[in-house]
Amino acid sequence: MKDCIFCKIIAKEIPSKVVYEDDYIMAFHDIEPQAPTHVVIIPKEHIASLNDLSDEHNNLIGHIFLSIKNIANTLGLKEGYRVVSNCGDLGGQTVDHIHFHLLGGRQLQWPPG
Ligand code: IMP
Repeated sequence: MKDCIFCKIIAKEIPSKVVYEDDYIMAFHDIEPQAPTHVVIIPKEHIASLNDLSDEHNNLIGHIFLSIKNIANTLGLKEGYRVVSNCGDLGGQTVDHIHFHLLGGRQLQWPPG
């Protein structure tokens, strides 16, 4: 989608540090890491947010979560990690292309701010 920063990353118009990529998804290091490991996982299909998911995305979302598990393992997050998807303004979403933050490498606190 034109003007979507994550679509531009998928198209390699904006460089990123890719940790995983296949036909359906991409995972890259966040440009402003909030933890020693902070990876963003996105579908290649432009979907604005969690609110835009429907039944047709069941397989895609399953694939994303299984891939997150594999990426976390590859990155050595053996002691635990967190997966977050911010949705909408109050949820803190700043990029309108659905994404999942994978955070790890330190003790994470709860609740988040
Ligand atoms: P959100 O605030 O939940 O929407 O997450 C968007 C995330 O994308 C933030 O953590 C940003 O730091 C990250 N981000 C924005 N632009 C880039 C980029 O060009 N490369 C990597 N991460 C980015």
